[in-house]
Amino acid sequence: MNSNPNRTECRLLIVGAGPAGLTAAIYAARAGLKPVVLAGAAPGGQATESPEIENYPGVGRTDGYTLAARMLSSATEFGAEIVYETALKISLAEKTVKTESSEYVFRELILATGAAHRHLGIDGEDKFTGRGISYCATCDGGFYRGKNVAVVGGGDSALTEALYLSNIAESVTLIHRRDAYRASPVLVDRIKAQPKIRRLTGVITALGGNEKLQSVEVATIPSGIENLAVDALFVAIGGAPNTELVRGQLQLDEDGYIVTDALMRTDRDSVYAVGDVRNTPLRQIVTACADGAVAASQIVV
Ligand code: NAP
Repeated sequence: MNSNPNRTECRLLIVGAGPAGLTAAIYAARAGLKPVVLAGAAPGGQATESPEIENYPGVGRTDGYTLAARMLSSATEFGAEIVYETALKISLAEKTVKTESSEYVFRELILATGAAHRHLGIDGEDKFTGRGISYCATCDGGFYRGKNVAVVGGGDSALTEALYLSNIAESVTLIHRRDAYRASPVLVDRIKAQPKIRRLTGVITALGGNEKLQSVEVATIPSGIENLAVDALFVAIGGAPNTELVRGQLQLDEDGYIVTDALMRTDRDSVYAVGDVRNTPLRQIVTACADGAVAASQIVV
């Protein structure tokens, strides 16, 4: 028994309860590791932002909230302990994670803290998220087949998403706040060669619509206002991995993502990273789940 009632010793601690963390929990629990999952206030991660998911194999059409809820109940059924607390401090040297009321001491740690999309920060963005505003063309583009969509941003993500959407949508307007793109030249060339993509230089100043997004107001550069009728706006203006609690304690890549090998091992013994927080080539639910399975499988009872 612990002498301190607020100090919990666990074999495997998983920080984060999105698809990556929950899949790690399922695999670890089935292997008898009795994982403890720090789920924060609301499990599910960014998956819960997707109103419809159709590319997660085998489940047909669903929504991210439902899918994450199923993963959560599977993890619980197999014996994972889900704790609705948020990690506030992580010491990899001491092998401890502190929450507001407790301290967890781990032998092995799986970091599944995800990443956050940067938001435009304009009125209506939250209201229209899932109702025309999306942060992931691969996830949601399929819902806008034959429709008119816009993408905002000028980096690799925005241009990649615009190209992807040009195969699906009727028209794509790529809105960027300046006339030079940050994206790699090859993508810029492809964008310029794609007749379905219209390039617009300007700043989005307002979003219009009732239940769903219907229009985007752009203050065009050098001057003028343009009202675009759109069915969807894909926001691709960058983002950041949730690594602030481990910064300086393990290796991150130049964009701040945790560096792992193919077995999800970080450069710290007994510390793994899975899902969107790591330097992965594809940030999708299915790849996050695969990461979680691989990491948990490295931890032997
Ligand atoms: P990024 O490179 O940081 O680009 C963000 C873009 O959004 C920039 O063009 C920026 O404009 C614009 N932006 C930022 N805040 C904005 C705001 N509030 N309003 C309007 N526009 C705003 O982000 P990313 O495109 O997501 O790429 C992140 C990293 O992943 C990069 O290293 C990228 O190379 C990599 N990536 C690679 C691939 C690939 O296929 N190889 C695909 C996706 C991403 P400014 O340019 O004016 O700052």
